[in-house]
Amino acid sequence: MNYPKEIRRYCPKCNTHTVQKVSLYKAGKRRGSALGERRHAEDKKGYGGQKFPKLAKPAKTTKKATRILTCTVCKKKFNTLGIRIRKFELVAV
Ligand SMILES: [Zn+2]
Repeated sequence: MNYPKEIRRYCPKCNTHTVQKVSLYKAGKRRGSALGERRHAEDKKGYGGQKFPKLAKPAKTTKKATRILTCTVCKKKFNTLGIRIRKFELVAV
């Protein structure tokens, strides 16, 4: 799917329509020192450490593309609901 890099859309903060830049959400880098990561590593240690069977055939074939809209006037960012799509491209219109 091709999607414009800039769209004109309602901004709740400015309370009017403004030009908003579109970018894609990307998950942040995982920290090995985070509590969940440490706990998971501890659980997986030793004999019989695998907590659940590794997925041989994942149910989903696509990932969700979440758009981040940045208002060019007030610089506030808005997340939109992710849509399942194979290919999501931002194009200049
Ligand atoms: Zn705004």
